[in-house]
Amino acid sequence: MGGQPMFILSEDTERTRGGDAQSSNIAAGKAVAESVRTTLGPRGMDKMLVSDSGDVVITNDGATILDEMDIEHPAAQMLVEVAETQEEEVGDGTTTASILAGELLSQAEDLLDDDVHPTTIVEGYHEAARLAQEAIEEEVIATDLDDEQLVQVAESSMTGKGTGDVAAADLAGTVVEAIGAVDSEDGVDRDSITIHTQVGASSSATELIEGVIVDEEPLSPEMPRSVSDAAIGVVEEDLEVTESNIDAEYQVSNVDQLNAAIEAETEQLREYAESIAAAGVDVVFVDGDVDDRVATYLADHGILAFEGVDSDDVDSIVAATGASRVASVKTLDEDDLGQAEGIDVRKFGDDERVFIEGGAAAKAVTVFARGGTEHVVDELERALRDALDVVTVALDAGGVVPGAGATEVAIGNYIREEAASVEGRKQLAVDAYADAVDLIPRTLAENTGMDPIDALVDLRAEFESGNTAGVLSEGQTGIVADPVEHGVLDPAAVKREAVDSATEAATMIVRIDDVIASS
Ligand code: ADP
Ligand code: MG
Repeated sequence: MGGQPMFILSEDTERTRGGDAQSSNIAAGKAVAESVRTTLGPRGMDKMLVSDSGDVVITNDGATILDEMDIEHPAAQMLVEVAETQEEEVGDGTTTASILAGELLSQAEDLLDDDVHPTTIVEGYHEAARLAQEAIEEEVIATDLDDEQLVQVAESSMTGKGTGDVAAADLAGTVVEAIGAVDSEDGVDRDSITIHTQVGASSSATELIEGVIVDEEPLSPEMPRSVSDAAIGVVEEDLEVTESNIDAEYQVSNVDQLNAAIEAETEQLREYAESIAAAGVDVVFVDGDVDDRVATYLADHGILAFEGVDSDDVDSIVAATGASRVASVKTLDEDDLGQAEGIDVRKFGDDERVFIEGGAAAKAVTVFARGGTEHVVDELERALRDALDVVTVALDAGGVVPGAGATEVAIGNYIREEAASVEGRKQLAVDAYADAVDLIPRTLAENTGMDPIDALVDLRAEFESGNTAGVLSEGQTGIVADPVEHGVLDPAAVKREAVDSATEAATMIVRIDDVIASS
């Protein structure tokens, strides 16, 4: 060809290649990991995130922090995805996974500087990740968990989170009770547990409700606010004068005809209420609008009624009580009704909430989370969600391992031992992986105020002499001790997922040597 260069990319395209592309991607990934490092563990600090519109989120949760940060760099974005995957798959360990990914990148940078080929690094990392999974398997201390262990798993996932004035230990009890209510031979029905937040009381008022809570207000103050052994109707219709009646032009020539027209209207409204009462309904949820006069008739019958009930609430009412939706009150009969042991309308400040407890159709429970402010209940909700998720995976996905960095120490050790038999330069990458895993106990030590190097030396020494050892906080500082004795347990699934998702992101970034960005 000769002479003319050939342009296949538009002029605006920015292209970074080889070492530059790698170091820019690695730097971005490391920066993301660094940003959440101080939040790891029970002594982790919180972050306050302020959006450009001024909304404030205060949290210790890795996934939430990364989600709220406006991260643009594509490689950095991959680390955000690590946290997202971790959150979706197992509900906890997001900080662990992202800082592990960051440290794998940092170690890769050193290897690249020493001229280890990216492909060799990727192979070594995959080999090491496989070894890490074996090590985790060996660390599993129990798969058939008793309530005490479940409470410990729940508590370990909440320690260090902002749970208001309520101790993680008390919340952990509520979490395990909730799980117990929906656990069966088929596993934990996690979807039947809802968290409902309500500002206005201290967090210690958080309680477990054996049923569902919906945000609806009774139609009239004349209606009962509490019904036991309730028969429940769900109606998807407007209970108003039908349009054709209103629009009709009455040729009224005398007072009798006028009265007749009004009477016809009243009759239609009265019939709505009569049909509902005749079906034996105690409480009716209507998704449409209800005329004030219908509300009055219903109140006269002692029926508790709600209008404009939103579809999510209808779904949970139907699921919990076994009520069938009916399109017209005319066809409503006993078979369509759901049942609940109790329905109570409770008032919280200006808000009213309907508690539907002991629904006949399905076991559904709600953790009713309280807190003094919006920020407190939001963080409490995140902590509860993590705790519910970890107890679920501990029960359904392979048990628990020692927490507080002990499992990571074991992983590091296992990988180093096995690395000896790995041939060539790949061994360097396998060893580097073990060093990256060390960052977890090191960071836990740092965040408790210990010297990270001393702590790691102590941890390894304990491990060598056959003891399980992690970093536990005591008073103002940290100590090296047995996490199992201190009740610090993590689900094995959280560790497995962290290894997989961190390895995947780090190897993907290391493999890139050409960034072509169109603008
Ligand atoms: P992640 O987002 O990775 O879950 P966390 O801030 O929740 O981050 O910290 C999790 C780490 O803290 C785990 O390694 C866990 O074992 C450890 N941990 C939890 N509770 C304690 C405790 N009481 N003492 C020491 N370590 C703990
Ligand atoms: Mg956690």
